[in-house]
Amino acid sequence: RVVVVGSANLDLVVTAPQLPRPGETVLGEDFRTVPGGKGANQAVAAARAGARCAFVGAVGADEFGQRLRDNLVGAGVDVAGLRTVPGPSGVALIAVDRAAENFILVAPGANAALTDLDAADAAAIGAADVLLLQLEVPLPTVVAAAGLARAGGTTVVLNAAPAAPLPAELLGLVDVLVVNEHEAAVVAEADSAEPRVLLDALLERVPRAVLTLGARGAAYADRSGLRLEIAAPRIEAVDTTAAGDAFTGALAVGWAERGGPVDADTVSAVLRWACAAGAACAQRPGASTALPERAAIEALYTA
Ligand code: ADP
Repeated sequence: RVVVVGSANLDLVVTAPQLPRPGETVLGEDFRTVPGGKGANQAVAAARAGARCAFVGAVGADEFGQRLRDNLVGAGVDVAGLRTVPGPSGVALIAVDRAAENFILVAPGANAALTDLDAADAAAIGAADVLLLQLEVPLPTVVAAAGLARAGGTTVVLNAAPAAPLPAELLGLVDVLVVNEHEAAVVAEADSAEPRVLLDALLERVPRAVLTLGARGAAYADRSGLRLEIAAPRIEAVDTTAAGDAFTGALAVGWAERGGPVDADTVSAVLRWACAAGAACAQRPGASTALPERAAIEALYTA
């Protein structure tokens, strides 16, 4: 069982021939609304990857909140810990031009109101195999959730996105850190393009680190001295949006199913599973709508 404590946003996406400059109005093309937020995306990713998954978060008392709730329920995510709070839901205003360049403006809305975890949340976190966290809800909540997991023997997986330097208090509660190269450099305060250097710097802060490398796959290192490089499945990438969320959600599922892997073979299998999920997501257009089902992950997983 996986529990996610994190964000839910509705992405409001407009495609346009070019992005507006300050003060400019540009006539766009399509408009669509897509459920997003790293927390909700990773919860949906975990559920589609085949885990029992619960989401603890907050949506607003508006139609967007209902849409976000329905989306999670539709994916089979347990929403007993999803609050509806006064005010607007979190939204992301996204403009995308023909070169796939974008700008994104996020208003956290209800996500900022996720400030207290209650006894039911604590019970859910303590009973889970894996707690999956990101950095789109208030940091004290992230720290509190990690503390509850630690107390209950639940493995803490932190996806340090969006990139931010992390307090020692949080780093001390993390079992597995998942970051892309940019996030790794920020968390490790290391200015290097070399995965090995980034991983070494991360291991001074956390016991296990996973570095995602886009089309190159992922790299792993832990304090026992284990180091792995996993090649990504060769696929035709259509849209890599949410590939990181697919990867992280599937990693949490793999970790939960294998009951906290320590040996090289198990960690390698979990990482290949996560890479298969990231690649399966990149094969499809769209963000959360492209998060793969278990069968699509299995099709790219090489045992
Ligand atoms: P983020 O979007 O968070 O920066 P990455 O771009 O590193 O994350 O992608 C996450 C994972 O998705 C990668 O580790 C890889 O497994 C998979 N992935 C992403 N892009 C591709 C691609 N072009 N081909 C195959 N796998 C990919």
